[in-house]
Amino acid sequence: MLDSVALRARLDGVRDRVMRAARRAGRDASSVRVVAVSKTFTAEDVRAAAVAGQVDFGENKVQEALQKMGQTSDLHIKWHLVGHVQSNKARKAGAQFDYVHSVDRAELATKHGTREEDLAPIFDAARGCRAVRIVGLMLLPPAVADPGEARPYFRELRDVRDRLLARGVDASMVRELSMGMSHDFEVAVEEGATMVRVGTAIFGQRNSMETSE
Ligand SMILES: *Cc1c(COP(=O)(O)O)cnc(C)c1O
Repeated sequence: MLDSVALRARLDGVRDRVMRAARRAGRDASSVRVVAVSKTFTAEDVRAAAVAGQVDFGENKVQEALQKMGQTSDLHIKWHLVGHVQSNKARKAGAQFDYVHSVDRAELATKHGTREEDLAPIFDAARGCRAVRIVGLMLLPPAVADPGEARPYFRELRDVRDRLLARGVDASMVRELSMGMSHDFEVAVEEGATMVRVGTAIFGQRNSMETSE
């Protein structure tokens, strides 16, 4: 289990950096949500972060997430699935998570990411579906050494959003931009992220054996 004092300090540090990045961009910091990515960490670690005021948590595996949900059901937590969804788990995921960041096909099959031209069928399918609401776009850019190198990708997602709006997609379907991780979330906030998915900077290094996805 993690040291809860250190955890709280790291959480505060991340929140402070988000606030300063928002200010640099002339944005309201309250428009940015920090999703604490707790994959590989324990339900007790989630609990410690929740006690420190963290509300949004992200997991990349449905099974692992369901376990932690069960162990923290007394807490007010919003759960985000940030890993890709296998079709046989999609129903469960849809029912259990508040947000699924990684929908990449209308049929929720397994594929990492989608091309801009494939977005329309996803939006169309969601429009006709009562159980699912699309609220935005998520980006996982290629790994780069310097956070600044991720900036063009963040800008591009914002541009994709703007093109969808120009094509008449309802604003409520593209209000969230999920982009930015521990090493580049400040750049993402400067470029318009409304959700940053931060693991390491909050919980510390993950065991490298368990970081798949
Ligand atoms: C693990 C993960 C993160 C968090 O990564 P860190 O570098 O630890 O902040 C964010 N997004 C996705 C999709 C992830 O799988």
